[in-house]
Amino acid sequence: MIPLNNWTTWAIWMVVSSSSMTVKCSGSTHTAAHCPKRATYGLSDSAQTFIDCVTATNGGVCEEVSLTSVKDKVSEPLLPALTPSLFSNVPPYINFIMPGQRKEPLPDNISRRLLWYDGGSPLVAATAIRSGYSLTKDFAMAVGYYVGCFQPSEVYKFQNFRPSQKYNHFPGSWSIGCKDRLELAVRKMKKAHGRKKFDFLPPTFILPEETNLLKKAWNSNPNGNLWILKPPCFHGGRGIEVIRRQEQIPANARLMVQRYISNPYLIDGHKFDMRIYVYVPSINPLRVYLYPDGVVKFATKKFTTDDLDSMVHLTNIEVNAKNPAYTLDYSLKTGHKWSLNVLKEYLRTNNGTDWMPIWENIKDIVLKTIISGEPEIWEGVRKYLQSKYSGHELFGFDILLDNNMKPWVLEVNKSPGLYPHSGHFRPVNDPMAKDMLNLAGFRIPGNEETDHGNEITSGSDVPDHLLLDKRWWSQTLSGEEKAKQKYYCDNYKNETILSTILDNLTPNDIRILVDTIDENSRRGGFDRIFPRVDTDKYFRFFQKPRYCNILIHQWLKRFHKNETEGISLVEAHCKELKHLTDQN
Ligand code: ADP
Repeated sequence: MIPLNNWTTWAIWMVVSSSSMTVKCSGSTHTAAHCPKRATYGLSDSAQTFIDCVTATNGGVCEEVSLTSVKDKVSEPLLPALTPSLFSNVPPYINFIMPGQRKEPLPDNISRRLLWYDGGSPLVAATAIRSGYSLTKDFAMAVGYYVGCFQPSEVYKFQNFRPSQKYNHFPGSWSIGCKDRLELAVRKMKKAHGRKKFDFLPPTFILPEETNLLKKAWNSNPNGNLWILKPPCFHGGRGIEVIRRQEQIPANARLMVQRYISNPYLIDGHKFDMRIYVYVPSINPLRVYLYPDGVVKFATKKFTTDDLDSMVHLTNIEVNAKNPAYTLDYSLKTGHKWSLNVLKEYLRTNNGTDWMPIWENIKDIVLKTIISGEPEIWEGVRKYLQSKYSGHELFGFDILLDNNMKPWVLEVNKSPGLYPHSGHFRPVNDPMAKDMLNLAGFRIPGNEETDHGNEITSGSDVPDHLLLDKRWWSQTLSGEEKAKQKYYCDNYKNETILSTILDNLTPNDIRILVDTIDENSRRGGFDRIFPRVDTDKYFRFFQKPRYCNILIHQWLKRFHKNETEGISLVEAHCKELKHLTDQN
């Protein structure tokens, strides 16, 4: 294995003993009025503590999100401040930590550059602060964000991101993040590849355009028809209604009407669905990670199709927290929210159900969903982002199991779960947020910040080899690189030709392989589901062959049994700085 860079050692002496300080709300339960909405305490750069009080719908529970929770024991020894690359001449990554962990402090000249936008998820902001960032309310100054997304009409705003800024969305991800567009994207795939392969969304009609088609489908099965009305782009169960009669559909409204899955798998008579976290650090090349834990959300009233009450049929916390019977166990082991791990154990012990085939099905439908949106997401990245570094996204898939254990995708959430009710899911979300940020590969912003009049980095005193180099993320290819890419895309079905792709690696090829290999080594609890050695079976679902996916697949194919050899191949080029050579 390649030795760590030397710079890590200096930080070890700079331990600040107060870095695990905790600030508590003054009691465990507050009404909204008692809670300071959000407080930032400027204690010191390294001991800044942040709390956030979240008004939950179940009576105003005040949650704290702090550097270290009272229950957590601080771990020893200190974790490194930065995670080195596996390769020479590649800058390090910020190491993110979770409650109960401590890391070496960063020196001022680095931490001054690490500004996190204060305006998004408190849980992710707390993770960033714990890991060396300070908060700023200035959107343009921040280099890290975990916020709600721009509206589709504001997609042009992505152009404003500087190459050192990392925003937690892709331009174009509405293509799967909006219910109607998801339906249209998957429909296209059904048309191209057959209904059976993409049969994971309940049949859906988009009104008013498809009113006649809906009528036809409705009338073909007049008995026992149950449908669900959904506004295309809301969440939290807003505007959602289970209906039995066509007259219940408002005229001329922009709505989706979806076939209701009336045979859900029940636990103790209750319906549930699963929030599955899917992280996409890059769309081209496509890299997708799945978190093995998640959140299981139960409806609070027993399931029956005789009663259309939303607390019987919807699992949203916003709907069910209004039920006095709603119970929340913060450990996610009992009550109306479980962790996915608890569900798996329940299925195994109570039902003898093997989780693996269900999970394999879930991986398959997650990948097919993302590939359905890939053309639009990649087009957005290409068109609007100066640097590929600036876009990445965590998706929350809501998945329902029917009583045949078939998973159905109900919707794909952008910026999921880490918002108002985040505290409720902390056993899952704290480690997941830390792993997600590590996977994202945050770097120390480079000196190009100076070009924008940013005083923070002007007169830089941080060595260049530690900084994000914007050449790394350039989307510009040399003539030779373009020709190579075209040749392999044109011949993407010819295995003999493909097997030569690694023979002559270009600077861009090396950067792609470094990113892919480094990223997978920082995956923490996430599983990489794409690329894998067998995921070339999904290539045919891509609108166009993607050179970067082919390149990585060939590397995996050749080296999956001997990764060290594959790393050495890439390292030999990095040592010679070939990855940073300008080929133009
Ligand atoms: P929201 O974005 O408002 O959460 P969803 O599409 O996730 O909207 O629907 C809310 C809830 O309604 C889901 O969590 C699920 O319990 C239920 N639901 C949605 N669609 C269906 C369906 N087709 N069949 C059965 N239940 C559904």
